[in-house]
Amino acid sequence: MASSLDNIKNIEELDLSGKKVFIRLDLNVPIKNGVIKDDTRIKEALKTIRYALDKNAKVILSSHLGRPKGNLKEDKKEFSLLPVGERLGELLGVEVLLWEDPQGLGAKAVLGELNSKKILLLENSRFLKEEEKNSHSMAANLAKLTDVYINDGFGALHRAHATVAALPSLIKERGIGFLVKKEVEVLEQLLTNIKRPFWAILGGAKVSDKIGVIENLLEKVDGFVIGGAMAYTFLKAQNITVGNSLIENDKVSLAKDLLKRIEARHKKIILPIDHVVAKELKANTNTRVTQTAAINDGEMGLDIGPQTINLIKSEIADAKTVFWNGPMGAFETAPFEKGSFELAKILSNLSAAMTVVGGGDSVSAVKKAGLSEKMGHISTGGGASLEYLEGIELPGLKALKGSHVEPLKADPEDIDEDFFS
Ligand code: AMP
Repeated sequence: MASSLDNIKNIEELDLSGKKVFIRLDLNVPIKNGVIKDDTRIKEALKTIRYALDKNAKVILSSHLGRPKGNLKEDKKEFSLLPVGERLGELLGVEVLLWEDPQGLGAKAVLGELNSKKILLLENSRFLKEEEKNSHSMAANLAKLTDVYINDGFGALHRAHATVAALPSLIKERGIGFLVKKEVEVLEQLLTNIKRPFWAILGGAKVSDKIGVIENLLEKVDGFVIGGAMAYTFLKAQNITVGNSLIENDKVSLAKDLLKRIEARHKKIILPIDHVVAKELKANTNTRVTQTAAINDGEMGLDIGPQTINLIKSEIADAKTVFWNGPMGAFETAPFEKGSFELAKILSNLSAAMTVVGGGDSVSAVKKAGLSEKMGHISTGGGASLEYLEGIELPGLKALKGSHVEPLKADPEDIDEDFFS
């Protein structure tokens, strides 16, 4: 059966010994006042880095962090990879040299120093606007530091950016690391090797972000659970009153259409049958649990209610596959976390099922509930996993396929003068 990893080498098939190995990672971790709040993505990157170091590669790492403005001089500090480099150094027991220029200008001079105890980390790739423009000249500069290109940044595979797409298209020796392989293989199972019943549980704020997934999974799942604020757009499509809840008015007719298509295929759909409501989204505000799906004027639905939680629990009790993306309520604010925490608990008790959780918020709900270890797979990439399940070919994978290499057509002004030497 065809796989999205066909014609893509994995790191173990490439000769890394003594080579300059450029590894694109997703080290985009939450940082507050210089302190890393969750280092999962850093830890998930270690296997590939260690493998390259064991093979005597000269390791050059690259990643984005947050959404800086793309201005190298002004961006700094808040979005610097400095704390990430320090953490990597501790975990790997190596010296991490942070190189200020994300496209590695001038870094050629230090490549000779790199060894199994010293690696290079390029500063936040998004400090240059060229990254998001998928700039050929940024890629051409990085190509100078690269004999072998490895992508192990699953969370950025859906971005057609210079370090993800343009760069590997210039490098003949290229492939994926261990994390990308694991993530893609798990998601691929959800599309091709489905153990039934298969439930997709979608939540979060926006219907628009999840339309593609609903459409692509329509034929594959046995049922959908829709919670979070996106559920109110679907309830409104059924002429149920939703009070002041967050909804997307321009998506109501689309929601109506999706509901019809789900029903026409005899798939199940669970929408909230009760809610935790309040006058406003504020911590520890007065709340009320509704008895029905209807919400009064002046009230907002902020979480799914206990009857809905029980309904989900009984409906998915025999599930063999579950994919969850998006929280069931405004879980960052107490007491609206309960629905998401309870859902995490329900999934953690489905011992016979493959449970896949993707998306920053649902992953953080699972972690806050202390249940990460009980999930089958926790994805490091929310947007990437959604786009993969939408059936979109991820630009970061596309760029690694086959053996075609783009010719260098660099703009000499943007390139190190000794580039072609
Ligand atoms: P998304 O990025 O679309 O997955 O949305 C995640 C956000 O949706 C989180 O910040 C949640 O707080 C928010 N959210 C989920 N349910 C609700 C709700 N009922 N009302 C307001 N915000 C919500």
